[in-house]
Amino acid sequence: MDVVIVGAGQAGAWVARSLRQGGHEGGITLLGRELHAPYERPPLSKGVLSGTEAHPPVLLDPQQCDALRVDFRPGVEVVDIDRSRHQVRCADGSVVPYDKLVLATGGRPRPLSCPGADLPHVHALRTIEDSMAIARQLVPGKRLLVIGGGWIGLEVAATARAKQVDVMLLEAGSRLCARSLPPRFSELLLEKHQQEGVEVRLSTTVSSITAGRQRTLAVQLPGGAQEFDAVVVGIGLLLDTGLAETCGLEVRDGIVVDQAGRTSDPDIYAVGDVANQPSTWAGGRLRLESWANAQNQAIAVGKALAGEDVAYDEIPWFWSDQYNLNIQVLGIPLNDVEGIQRGSVESGQFSVFQFSGERLHSVISVNAPRDIKVAKRWLKQGTCPSPDVIADPSVRLDKLERSA
Ligand code: NAP
Repeated sequence: MDVVIVGAGQAGAWVARSLRQGGHEGGITLLGRELHAPYERPPLSKGVLSGTEAHPPVLLDPQQCDALRVDFRPGVEVVDIDRSRHQVRCADGSVVPYDKLVLATGGRPRPLSCPGADLPHVHALRTIEDSMAIARQLVPGKRLLVIGGGWIGLEVAATARAKQVDVMLLEAGSRLCARSLPPRFSELLLEKHQQEGVEVRLSTTVSSITAGRQRTLAVQLPGGAQEFDAVVVGIGLLLDTGLAETCGLEVRDGIVVDQAGRTSDPDIYAVGDVANQPSTWAGGRLRLESWANAQNQAIAVGKALAGEDVAYDEIPWFWSDQYNLNIQVLGIPLNDVEGIQRGSVESGQFSVFQFSGERLHSVISVNAPRDIKVAKRWLKQGTCPSPDVIADPSVRLDKLERSA
């Protein structure tokens, strides 16, 4: 059986690894649009951007491809899936037959729609090249406009401030990271970025960008134009679901898959940012754009393709590093639940445990990774100490767990 994987990012590379490690003996072809070997993206807004990491970790280097017998083809764009012939067609005219196909196509940065959005020095951030181009702008005294107060925007702003760059950040909505965090954490991030010297403007969008006089770009904002040396746009991801849609797969906020990653065509799987999968933790279907999901879901799909019975249902988890804050989110936070706080905001180390009835629902921690570790076990076991115990700083939660 030959497996073809479209998309050589985190998810695609992990499907290939897991498939071979799961005992698959047939062919594995990995087709990637980028020219690089598959790599991890989290450092692109952190270490690679700041220059402390020369290159993000590579997920499948040529030696590993040889050892795992993965036929990795970089610079290849798949333009069509022929389900009846079981083959994909690439932009260069080549055709690759498959027995099973995996779509790990991810997405591309949502472009800004205003005039001037395509000018030089208006950057998106998705690839190594993007990160390096932005890094060249992070020089003390330069002025950077970050558009979007989501994860990319905030991490870029933090990295830029560490490089003594003047930063203004615009968010169209009324609070930061509104899609993934409850209001009190949006507030915390706002305060932190302001303390670190970022000028944050909420409920604000750009109407046009033109060439500047003193600096490279003049950006039209409510209240007048301001000049910047560069702009970074982080306003979300546009999913690459076009191939799936055109070949008639079910697509609804991503490609609809079952718990083994199978689409509405049993010979086609989807994984990573594009996959919309059942999740106990979301109480329905869930599509996650996170490093951990791309990896773990892909490992499960690799196993499923290798013949294992798989029902993927990991607890959603992701993290972000900004300044001296390590923020971790476990589960899907509720916006309207206050939660039980452990630790103090003033100490810079605390977690909020949210309950749904008597059940632990989700945890958000700031510089308290141990709370997340313990909570993960509780969520998996379906057990949890009482809110009073969790809130008591004299109780060691990890010890408690061992004696339980
Ligand atoms: P994101 O987290 O969805 O945030 C985009 C933000 O931009 C949203 O708050 C959005 O507001 C806002 N926005 C949309 N249109 C705007 C406009 N015209 N002007 C100003 N603001 C606008 O997406 P992202 O930050 O671009 O990140 C892209 C992907 O990379 C996501 O999948 C993200 O999860 C991933 N990523 C993850 C991490 C991490 O896990 N640590 C780090 C970096 C990137 P509305 O919600 O109101 O539209």
